[in-house]
Amino acid sequence: MKAAVLYGANKIEIRDVPTPAIAQAGEVIADVQFVGLCKTDQQITATAPNQLPKGQELILGHEVVCQIPDEQTYFALNNEISCGECSYCQEGLTSHCQNLQELGVNCNGGYAQKMLAPRSSLYPFVFSNPSLGILIEPLSCAVRGVERILATANLWSVDQPTTLIIGGGLSGSLVGYLLTHSPQFQGNIKLYDIVNQPILWAEKLGIERITEVVKDKAHLVIECSGSPNGLDTALTSVRKAGLVCIYGVPKVGIPLPISPHELFMREIAVITSFAGATEQTMGKAIDYIRNDEAFFEQLLGRVISLQNLPQELTAWNPQLGTRTFVDMNA
Ligand SMILES: [Zn+2]
Ligand SMILES: [Zn+2]
Repeated sequence: MKAAVLYGANKIEIRDVPTPAIAQAGEVIADVQFVGLCKTDQQITATAPNQLPKGQELILGHEVVCQIPDEQTYFALNNEISCGECSYCQEGLTSHCQNLQELGVNCNGGYAQKMLAPRSSLYPFVFSNPSLGILIEPLSCAVRGVERILATANLWSVDQPTTLIIGGGLSGSLVGYLLTHSPQFQGNIKLYDIVNQPILWAEKLGIERITEVVKDKAHLVIECSGSPNGLDTALTSVRKAGLVCIYGVPKVGIPLPISPHELFMREIAVITSFAGATEQTMGKAIDYIRNDEAFFEQLLGRVISLQNLPQELTAWNPQLGTRTFVDMNA
């Protein structure tokens, strides 16, 4: 089968590799149909030596839509394979499983014609456009992020928190969608992004775009860009006694641009949200998309072939606020 093989930093190529074989009961060999290109894929591609033991190779791709031979249904992959036994799994914190296998991150994933996965990690869905299924995994992570944000609502000093989303990419769009569709949330949301391009999803959600951030203004700031600038803006724009959620994965090695003293004196609470695809969040993500396909449709970006994936991952230039994805049949 054809697969995109990562073999070093920014070294990725399409090769013929052996089709995976079922090793354990409960596994299936699925036919990959669509796979999203996530910033995580770009970052692992760029820093592969840190991820790969010397001489090893890896097939990335974790936002996967696949089919099982002889079945009509499309499935979305939950790429987090947890052990169910460690203390984190016992607490339901499966993303922190001490034996976590992440398909497409630390073991082979979906940038291939076929992939091996536990059948129990595949979630059936019915959308009129099956490629929308690539949004299920990232949306399930956003469901967890927004649940963590809302769980801290008692820290805000007002019922209608002034809210700022930083970063108009896919993460910002999913968090924005969930906040505007959460009955428990009554905040007034604004969006800030340094890129000077229209951001369609924000217009659709009625979220005002601001071009300048006011210092010490927002009760709640959700940093979705992962950039040093974004973090800096988040910690500047949050009010005293406010809450910052670091949602975009910060680049490895960048410092928190605030001193513990200032954090303390301004009484800023900082939370984060890492991954979080579970049976519950995958189910919710599927429901959200099925009930509002038109909204999620606009988040689908460029469609590329597997052949073009190496170029796309190394150049990395997605259309703002959309997900580029591989169509295996393109
Ligand atoms: Zn991702
Ligand atoms: Zn575990």
